[in-house]
Amino acid sequence: MYSVLPDVFEWQLDYIRSQQIPFIRIGDMVRAYGSSTTALADSVMLTADDGWADVMNALPILQARQAPMTLYIYPMVLNHGAYLKFAQLDALKANPWIDFGCHSYTHPVLRHVSAAVLKHEVLESKAVLEKQLGKPLDTFAYPFGMFDRATQAMVREHYKLGLGVNDGGNTLKTNCYNINRFVVYRTTGFGDSQHADRRRLDQQGHGPFRAKQHAHVCYGDP
Ligand SMILES: [Zn+2]
Repeated sequence: MYSVLPDVFEWQLDYIRSQQIPFIRIGDMVRAYGSSTTALADSVMLTADDGWADVMNALPILQARQAPMTLYIYPMVLNHGAYLKFAQLDALKANPWIDFGCHSYTHPVLRHVSAAVLKHEVLESKAVLEKQLGKPLDTFAYPFGMFDRATQAMVREHYKLGLGVNDGGNTLKTNCYNINRFVVYRTTGFGDSQHADRRRLDQQGHGPFRAKQHAHVCYGDP
């Protein structure tokens, strides 16, 4: 992972499992917000933004725990530097624990761009990734978690959910075009008394993260 070392990631997922909190998929969230009758049990959904190639390290960890994760990717960086190569994207596409969403085309602060650029960022990213992956993508994570009314309106027109990075859980009353996500760093722990070393990291870092109802968890810089 970009921000979280594999052993810490394993520990975080095992902690969530130890609390009997189920992992859900992005499709479960889409269905819940699209229906007035579907209820969501307390649950956690994992996301990782930007498409760094080392997200491949997460695959065996996710698979061993049957935990799905949604990757929010922006096409401009694919096949460049430390980002995912096309062959890796193909492998991810075939992995049953991986889902995808859009994250703009070039990762700008969308509230700072012109109307024409906004349209391109929101629509072209969807068109290119859907073609690459061969499946529809109906959720969008705002780059840096930042947006304004025009951004939100454009995303609302073309996607079923918009994800931000405000720390917090979600309920079905949450604005589904500003879904909260806890950003997880390598120092993020759970304040669990059984894990004094992690608790110490909390005190030095960003913690403690506590799994709450419908928590989205975001790995990687947003
Ligand atoms: Zn990002």
